Amino acid sequence: MTRTHQIAKYKTGVPLIAVAILLAITGLGVFSIGFDQGQIFSIVFGEKAYADMYLHEFTHDLRHAAGFPCH
Ligand SMILES: [Zn+2]
Repeated sequence: MTRTHQIAKYKTGVPLIAVAILLAITGLGVFSIGFDQGQIFSIVFGEKAYADMYLHEFTHDLRHAAGFPCH
């Protein structure tokens, strides 16, 4: 007579890569809302982005509401 045993392994918890991606998105969001002075758009528009500060102006009221220092 042959006996078979079945072993079940359960993985619980959140995958580490998901936590890393979520932290990266959170960091980018906090930076763009709270600290950006044209740095992100300067990748595409160059030095002109520091004078225009489109992302800063777009998130300006949210920046003040969240308590980030601005001006
Ligand atoms: Zn302001």
